[in-house]
Amino acid sequence: VPWFLLTILLSGCCGAGPARDTALPSSVVRAHAAALRREYKFAIVEVPPFVVVGGGPATEVRAYAREVVAWSYAALQRELFDHHPSRPIELWALRTPGSYAAWADEAIGSSPGSPYGEYVPCARAIIVDRSMGDGTLVHEMVHVLVEVDFPSAPTWLNEGLASLYERPGRRAGRIVGLDNWRGAALRRHLRHHRPDLRALMGTSRASFYGDHRARHYATARYLMLFLQQRGELRAFYHAMRDRGLDGPAAIEQAARLPLARFQRAWRSFVLRGRDPQTKRAAEAMPPRLTFYRG
Ligand SMILES: [Zn+2]
Repeated sequence: VPWFLLTILLSGCCGAGPARDTALPSSVVRAHAAALRREYKFAIVEVPPFVVVGGGPATEVRAYAREVVAWSYAALQRELFDHHPSRPIELWALRTPGSYAAWADEAIGSSPGSPYGEYVPCARAIIVDRSMGDGTLVHEMVHVLVEVDFPSAPTWLNEGLASLYERPGRRAGRIVGLDNWRGAALRRHLRHHRPDLRALMGTSRASFYGDHRARHYATARYLMLFLQQRGELRAFYHAMRDRGLDGPAAIEQAARLPLARFQRAWRSFVLRGRDPQTKRAAEAMPPRLTFYRG
């Protein structure tokens, strides 16, 4: 197949479709849900743009759809994003590692690359194992939103935002990312090495997912967490998305600091350790939104 046809095929078949300014009409989601109901015995609940395919009793799946899926999606939209998918996204939420593995092929057309969950654009589906907590769901949901809101976002930004919200909390009705397990290894690293945010923000997709991927995730996540804590995450994201600034320039504009000074402050923030507000915000979460390590 010639490359240009391949490009058309790929962009035509994969992903959440062209961005919309308004939410996907519920009629489109309803039609997709009806087709799934004819095929599967699962409880199926519409939460535009998602169709939740849930393991377990229907009442529980409905509560999950309303309290976890709908709340997280709306809160993420309010926080950062201005666009919606134009195609329904299936959200397969299984309840055990066994059913997660058994239904992966049906849901995403392959074995999942992670025991927690995955978004596969070409399948237009997210699959998660709910027994690992609900953080993965929010992580993968961010990938769907970044895909339509900022299609050319660099990988470090996409994964930084996704992993920021993988341990979500609620503060004054807003979704926030909280300190999580990725911080410990980053603190160990920063005690013995100079921080290099510029290097992180220079990574390509391949180098981000390369040899130092764990540190790249942690650095990107804690960069987003620090911007969030300073109240500058939104300005930073919009400077990159709307003004075409690269990471360092967007930081300098949002934080009104030279990158070197910002980086010193970031390093102290990370080394100080746990965000004192974490415990309180975590307690304020709906009980169903639990957290995971991955
Ligand atoms: Zn991710």
